[in-house]
Amino acid sequence: MTEPPPYELYAIRYATAMRSAAEVFVGGDPHESPVPMDYFVWMARNDRHTVVIDTGFDALAAQRRGRQLLREPGEGLRLLGVDCAQVRHVIITHLHYDHAGNLPAFPRARFHLQEREMAFATGRYMAEPFFAHAYDIECVLGMLRLVYGAQVQFHDGDAEIVPGISVHRVGGHTHGLQVVRVRTRVGWVVLASDAAHYLANMTTGRPFPIVANVMEMTAGWERMRALASRPDYIVPGHDPLVMQRYREPEPGLMGVAVRLDAEPEEGSDGAPRR
Ligand SMILES: [Zn+2]
Repeated sequence: MTEPPPYELYAIRYATAMRSAAEVFVGGDPHESPVPMDYFVWMARNDRHTVVIDTGFDALAAQRRGRQLLREPGEGLRLLGVDCAQVRHVIITHLHYDHAGNLPAFPRARFHLQEREMAFATGRYMAEPFFAHAYDIECVLGMLRLVYGAQVQFHDGDAEIVPGISVHRVGGHTHGLQVVRVRTRVGWVVLASDAAHYLANMTTGRPFPIVANVMEMTAGWERMRALASRPDYIVPGHDPLVMQRYREPEPGLMGVAVRLDAEPEEGSDGAPRR
């Protein structure tokens, strides 16, 4: 049997915000200066499949939460030639508001979600603001509608979505968080989503403070290292470094999107080269 062609893999930056160090590292940071946080959706495609990973938030959510929306996630995908209305596979890494909005923009898609994420987002812990804060009930209800519309495929642990793309539940940040492994021309790349907001959460062992289970979060870092061809093929979920370490697919998309199926540009110290 012939191997399927590898996937092109993109990060699309759709929003940004400033956070304090204490909001992004347990224990804060000695420098205590504000830390920029970027918001992404991701897309993988070859000549057989186009898979969208997470769906971002919309203008209303941006306004409510004080985030700067740079472009609707669907507009970012359109700039890469993707028509959301035609997409057949959407992977939702978890149901937080910044990963699971805009669901009706994908009317023909099958949504891939961990069973445990749906149970967590609709269960007893949502009565606790600590766990509920990053969820938006409208996103959760939107997913519930898709469940009733038979558009959701639930997974329990590891699953192949299409040949060369798989999901892996790691939990930690939320009970049902899954990371995504994609076969690319350079090898296996892992989209961490919120299993590592910043590379430094993982490389310095300082968890992101929004966390359901800290032990699972640290085990998730190990799992991603095992899944990726190289440790630096793990792509963090909210780190502005992503836009510095990878190149835009074409000059007109500078600051909008980068290709992740490439060698990241960094020195051995993890610092960006440019
Ligand atoms: Zn999250």
